[in-house]
Amino acid sequence: MTIYCRHCGLSEFRTSRFRFQALDLVQLLLLRLPVRCANCHERAFTSLRQFLKLRRAHRSRHNERHDAA
Ligand SMILES: [Zn+2]
Repeated sequence: MTIYCRHCGLSEFRTSRFRFQALDLVQLLLLRLPVRCANCHERAFTSLRQFLKLRRAHRSRHNERHDAA
């Protein structure tokens, strides 16, 4: 499942830090987690599975950078 930014239309997202708002709790109950557009930083919600995938991808990129240094 690919999500697209409703603001700029790109599909590149990064995991977002939680800021507990009433809306987030509703989304969490639906097993949807907040992510942020890599381009315009617009907030969106995605499935738990997609969220974990993004988080893993981000972490592996970080590790590569760390190993190279
Ligand atoms: Zn965007």
